[in-house]
Amino acid sequence: MTEPIRSRSPQNPDDIVAEHAPVAPDEVRRLAASARAAQGEWRRAGAAEHASALRGAADRLRARADSVADLVVREVGKPVTEARAEVGRAAAILDYYAQSCFAATGELLAPSLPADQPGLLFTERRPRGVAGLVTPWNFPLAIPLWKAAPALAAGNAVLLKPSPEALACAEVVGRLFDGLLPDGLLRVVPGGAATGRAVIAAADVVSFTGSAAVGAEVVVAAARAGLPVQAEMGGQNAAVVLPDADPATTAAMLARAAMGYAGQKCTATRRIIVVGDAAPFTEALVAAVAALPVGDPARAGVEVGPVISAAARSRVVDAVDAARAAGGRLLTSGRPRDGAFYVAPVLLDQVDPAHPVAREETFGPLATVFSAPDPAAAVALANDVRYGLVTSVHGRDVGMLLEAARGVDTGLIRVNAPTTGVDFHAPFGGEKASSHGPREQGSAALDFYTSVRTVTLAAPPPPARPVEEAA
Ligand code: NAD
Repeated sequence: MTEPIRSRSPQNPDDIVAEHAPVAPDEVRRLAASARAAQGEWRRAGAAEHASALRGAADRLRARADSVADLVVREVGKPVTEARAEVGRAAAILDYYAQSCFAATGELLAPSLPADQPGLLFTERRPRGVAGLVTPWNFPLAIPLWKAAPALAAGNAVLLKPSPEALACAEVVGRLFDGLLPDGLLRVVPGGAATGRAVIAAADVVSFTGSAAVGAEVVVAAARAGLPVQAEMGGQNAAVVLPDADPATTAAMLARAAMGYAGQKCTATRRIIVVGDAAPFTEALVAAVAALPVGDPARAGVEVGPVISAAARSRVVDAVDAARAAGGRLLTSGRPRDGAFYVAPVLLDQVDPAHPVAREETFGPLATVFSAPDPAAAVALANDVRYGLVTSVHGRDVGMLLEAARGVDTGLIRVNAPTTGVDFHAPFGGEKASSHGPREQGSAALDFYTSVRTVTLAAPPPPARPVEEAA
């Protein structure tokens, strides 16, 4: 008998939020077959019906916004202000893809036909079939929906394999569509790696968000099966602070970007690279980090709650110990706090940029401060990791800002804005080990969940003229 998977509240680990038997691979195959059967009906239903289902789900989510936000707080420890913002964003994502159902789905081109044979050459986008979506726990509504909404808008069926740590939120996502879609079109299939692998094997298109290690495995499995695949993975994001940046406001922005939600965002700032003398800025940063309210994420105003699990907390503590053993200096307390999975924000400096703590993602409230002699050296240091998700650059001189931004090797560049924060209507994704395949979100997502057919439609050729007439 397989052990059920359970999600626990990180601020109160005795609180089991949801429990489910992992969906077995055979069952995944059966659900994929029924989703594929429902997909034909859904594709034929057309744009107005697709839009109406997505709007219906958005309305349902807004009507339950407070209770869903409370569930997000409880299940993944997201501070309540951010949890409410995620609910709002999830509803807006549904609205956005509802209106996108009416966008043009092809282009008209000049056909190469004989002069006496009028015709059209056009492209049309067709849904791919069953979208296999594998998602992490940290944005338990927004990420499943920014994959599922464009997939559904384009006429696909969906199998969603959520993170075991965000089971209850995934069930909410599934229920938003109850009665709005053909039976079996969208299925939530809880489970771990085996269920995830089965979803990929059963899908026609695969979208993954999670760690770089799992993402690499997903990409290989999908490629072997000949499936289109996109994978959004980790980041080791840098913020470059130019000498004319205002220390207090920039430090406050970076403290939040690094430590908000206990640093559990792929876009969190992990490395702060100060151009010139780092001491005054570091002092401002330490003060800004110390000022962040840490504690129960359900309490209004708290910005740093617990990390997701005991294992995640150990990873932060171990990373700090390893960095200190190698000469790193701890600028804040950085120790586990009493109870649950809390760990106080950790700022380090004097870390060798080649040390793993500087190069690899520790998915928690941990950031390292470096200094660089000039902007070019800061950009080189920012780029010197295998990841390439997002970089922020801070300062006033537009020329210097643009020069630094131009050199940065990431998919997202934020000038005088935190590395965190994503616009769902703009393409989202990284370079290097952070991403594989086409971008997510915006109209790029609709492209990904469809394939292009090129159609030549010609009038029947004119009848051959009788021989005597021709003479
Ligand atoms: P994870 O890689 O451990 O798990 C992600 C999902 O993959 C889960 O649903 C998991 O059950 C499933 N999975 C695990 N092994 C699998 C396998 N072999 N085959 C198929 N599926 C498998 O990640 P996580 O801990 O849930 O999330 C944190 C990570 O996600 C961080 O690295 C973070 O940077 C990244 N992330 C990236 C983005 C982005 O858009 N770039 C956004 C959010 C989170």
